[in-house]
Amino acid sequence: MITIEKLHKKFGSLEVLKGIDLQIKSGGVFAILGPNGSGKTTLIKSMLGMVIPNSGDIWIQGENIKKQWRYRHQVSYLPQIAHFPKNLKVAELLKMIKNLKNKPCDETSLVATFNLAPFLNKNLGDLSGGTKQKVNAVLTFMVDNPIIIMDEPTSGLDPVSVLELKKIILAERAKGKTIIISSHILSFIEEISDEIVFLLDGNIYFKGSVSKLKENTNKSNFEEAIASILTTSYA
Ligand code: ADP
Ligand code: MG
Repeated sequence: MITIEKLHKKFGSLEVLKGIDLQIKSGGVFAILGPNGSGKTTLIKSMLGMVIPNSGDIWIQGENIKKQWRYRHQVSYLPQIAHFPKNLKVAELLKMIKNLKNKPCDETSLVATFNLAPFLNKNLGDLSGGTKQKVNAVLTFMVDNPIIIMDEPTSGLDPVSVLELKKIILAERAKGKTIIISSHILSFIEEISDEIVFLLDGNIYFKGSVSKLKENTNKSNFEEAIASILTTSYA
């Protein structure tokens, strides 16, 4: 269980999170949605201790994460933008990360799933955005952690890889893991999410299942239901 209480974050005079209250149940897929700049990454990074909030609290599995770091060993994280060392080869990066983790890592099947074998001896700086994203996914799933947080894992991925990613996420979900994800591909979110939260202007505008959102907005289509939150709140 993740509990967020009265979370405020400002960057200078820009108020990005305006008192977020949120509970994320253990087990299942929880999606964070919202337009560009709505604070999704800021919220995700707050849970990881990579953004320090101005006020408010976050508890992960019962522990207040303020000034804590051990809980991070339970969390796998896929960053929105992965800054890989350009001159390192894919195989070298995988080996380096495996050596850093004090846990068993299994990347072999993931490398096969994402067809990364031909790229293992290439420099990370020479890879396309989509291929880098596949490496990002391998790094995320190769360690067995109960919490998986992914910030826009679908960005740059081809449709076949999005499908593979979906299968992996559903398999992890079946193991009882807690998966937190942001993505702009709404059909993907609709298929995998147990619950969604919609951020806008630093506040939560909706929290619940996709079917509840459709019911509330009286729209049978997920895209239209999302659009309806936006138009209603701006009205
Ligand atoms: P999202 O992930 O929903 O697109 P972000 O959380 O990345 O949104 O950003 C929310 C707002 O905060 C944006 O206006 C962004 O420019 C700003 N922002 C994010 N990080 C920083 C930072 N480190 N310094 C200044 N402004 C930031
Ligand atoms: Mg973001």
